[in-house]
Amino acid sequence: MKQTAIYPGTFDPITLGHVDVVRRGLKLFDRIVIGVADNPNKGPMFDVEARFAMVCETFIAEPNVEVARFSGLLVDLAHGFQAHAILRGLRAASDFEYEFQMATMNRRLDAAIETAFVMAREDYTFVSSRFIREISTMGGDVSALVPAPVLLRLDGR
Ligand code: ADP
Repeated sequence: MKQTAIYPGTFDPITLGHVDVVRRGLKLFDRIVIGVADNPNKGPMFDVEARFAMVCETFIAEPNVEVARFSGLLVDLAHGFQAHAILRGLRAASDFEYEFQMATMNRRLDAAIETAFVMAREDYTFVSSRFIREISTMGGDVSALVPAPVLLRLDGR
């Protein structure tokens, strides 16, 4: 049976740090389903359609990556794709508290689903979507930190 993991996030926008997490996940799982959370209450820079489109375009040549939008419970998304794992990335100790809470909560909701963490490549440990939004809004160059479909949209704003 193929092993599938869900990689959930807001991806506002997707960064090369996220791409690195997916590439590492593909070494562990047969299929990664990237779950783009609707999260309108987070006041995203890009609406869910744009965030979903940027993720799809980034992985267009990768047959083992699928992309889904979701707004409900993560465990329900996992059930829908017959996934037994959730993939998340860790950058620094500051990520740990939130990730720990989320993994514990998801385990309470479904004990059969494991959360797996991978560590970002060193040169992406400082990259976050918030950082990309702030720098690009102020006119800074983020071309080395985001995939091409994101750069196109940031340039078009
Ligand atoms: P959320 O809104 O859930 O924080 P994000 O899209 O910001 O979603 O992040 C999704 C996941 O990717 C999180 O587990 C986060 O820690 C991880 N992540 C984000 N950026 C990086 C990076 N540069 N390196 C490793 N993991 C990262």
